[in-house]
Amino acid sequence: MSEVYYRKWRPKIFSEIIGQDSVSKILLNSVTSNRIAHAYIFSGPRGSGKTSTARILAKAINCLNSTNGEPDISCENCLSIENKTSLDLIEIDAASNRGIDDIRELSDKINFVPNKSNYKVYIIDEVHMLTDPAFNALLKTLEEPPNHAIFILATTDIDKVPLTIISRCHRLDFKRVSLQSIIIKLQFICKKEGIIFNNKELDLIARQSYGSLRDAENLLEQLVVAYGNELKISEINEFFHTDNYDMAYDLIKHILDNNLRDALIKIDFINQSGIDIKNLLKSIIEIFRVFILLKNDIMSDLSFNIDKMKNIKPLIQNYSLDNIIFAITEFNDIYLKNKVVSILDIELAIINICSYKNVQTNKLSDSLNKNEYLTKDESNKYNSTNSEVNSDKLPTKDKSNKYNSTNSEVN
Ligand SMILES: [Zn+2]
Repeated sequence: MSEVYYRKWRPKIFSEIIGQDSVSKILLNSVTSNRIAHAYIFSGPRGSGKTSTARILAKAINCLNSTNGEPDISCENCLSIENKTSLDLIEIDAASNRGIDDIRELSDKINFVPNKSNYKVYIIDEVHMLTDPAFNALLKTLEEPPNHAIFILATTDIDKVPLTIISRCHRLDFKRVSLQSIIIKLQFICKKEGIIFNNKELDLIARQSYGSLRDAENLLEQLVVAYGNELKISEINEFFHTDNYDMAYDLIKHILDNNLRDALIKIDFINQSGIDIKNLLKSIIEIFRVFILLKNDIMSDLSFNIDKMKNIKPLIQNYSLDNIIFAITEFNDIYLKNKVVSILDIELAIINICSYKNVQTNKLSDSLNKNEYLTKDESNKYNSTNSEVNSDKLPTKDKSNKYNSTNSEVN
């Protein structure tokens, strides 16, 4: 089987690392000035390049012909690290080797000098998974490391790493990779692999990977395996189930227009058409999220096609932020609480949202009617009492949830 994209197109030198400029710069400087720390901790989201960077650092400090801190990737030491045959690079996955024995084994051997390189490099991935006794053993090793040993700890969850460990390390924080950086890397891979693409398609893939370059590369590969060497928007939509956006948008319009009847007819129609309801729910939530961003004049980082959003922007001025927030909360609750979403869950949410909006509208028109002959002061007074009285008519979160949960128990 051919090598997967994310391994094949992994960065090999610091300047090829995408989206982590400050980390690369710091490491390059420390290599050129020969001020290497004995222990580093790389913290950051999955797929942000921590392990790749650790391997580049291992090459850079052991390279026989490095230039300006960059490894030449052709000397004996670089090649053996690339080919994973180096005896001086030890990689441990703490997710599966998390016990004290694993760390003891490592510390027992640590005094052996490197085989061929200047440094023996230990990369401990997902270090937060170690058990407490294992952390204690590691701490002892970090307190008195031999000169030839360099530790690079990597974690996606820095809060689970004891402070005593962190304080022994030079900490470097990796960022979620930006949309633009992911697109640039995908363009690079497409050109190398002979994949026909437009930036629109890459944009869609990048948005689905939520800042993980590795996920984006894997998604690209899965698409090529599934549909061949030419990327097409329609196929990508089908693959990600994002082809239900139009349906979700129509449904949302009925809901926000407070058209309960049409909303229920629409959801019934969608259900009959065999669309995956949980995916539909995901799209509904994403669209509402985009509404909130647009309401606040934010056009960047939208998981939606920008052209489409330009058309939607004038429409959402008719809807209050309050109603949008109530609606997104209703739908998000269902999404988070249920592995399998039933059509009834969605229908109940629609009813809750429409009745919430009715109460809001009635409240407004009531106060407008009654305020006609009142002075400003009196009307303010009236409003506050009125809303107190009305507030118990609101379908509060508690009430609606209670209704939902009783109902689903029955089912
Ligand atoms: Zn080299």
